[in-house]
Amino acid sequence: MRCDSCGVSVDPAHAVCPLCRRNTAGIGKAAGNRWYPSYPAVPAPRASGALARSLIFAIVAVISITLIINVLGNRDVWWSLFVAPCVLYGWLLIRHTWMSKSHLGAKIVVQWLGLSGMLLWINALSGGSSWSTGYVIPFLVMAATLLMTLICLAKPRGWRDFAGYLLLLMILGFTPLLFFLLGLSNVLWPSVSAAMYALLTFGGMWLLADKGFRKEVKRRLHY
Ligand SMILES: [Zn+2]
Repeated sequence: MRCDSCGVSVDPAHAVCPLCRRNTAGIGKAAGNRWYPSYPAVPAPRASGALARSLIFAIVAVISITLIINVLGNRDVWWSLFVAPCVLYGWLLIRHTWMSKSHLGAKIVVQWLGLSGMLLWINALSGGSSWSTGYVIPFLVMAATLLMTLICLAKPRGWRDFAGYLLLLMILGFTPLLFFLLGLSNVLWPSVSAAMYALLTFGGMWLLADKGFRKEVKRRLHY
């Protein structure tokens, strides 16, 4: 291995560089240290497996039972089709947000996707005005972007950990505009607001925030 500061090659067994006396502890941790050999990480056994399986069973049971009750009972109103998206969203909330150890940034993005999907489904079934694509989804994506911005600013190393997800949300901020262009909504201003908000966040982060965001964006976009 090599010393970080002077570039001289150092035996991994030494704690300090023989030339500059700098601590070499951080260098090449995995590259065989005589006293502290590296061990492969053993994944912890997943205790939540049974719970996850029973959750899926519960969802399938609830959806099929409500469907059967609906079919056997009053078929004028297909209320069971409204139950399914709510149950599926509940599953997403429990399985991928509460029970999951995934990245907080990913959880926020998945929550936005799940909520938007559920509302789209309910909106499509109920017909009438397109309140989900026109109003709720644009405001939800703005709220998620604001939340992610605050996390980036508040957390130590926030830029390194969350800038990628913030960037993803900024791109997703344009989906309401896409909905409008595809004719899925008939109000323009919330969609334009969401796209503007994404652009403003990007500009604001780029100009005002510390170098962390710029560096992270360059790293993500590979230039
Ligand atoms: Zn050195």
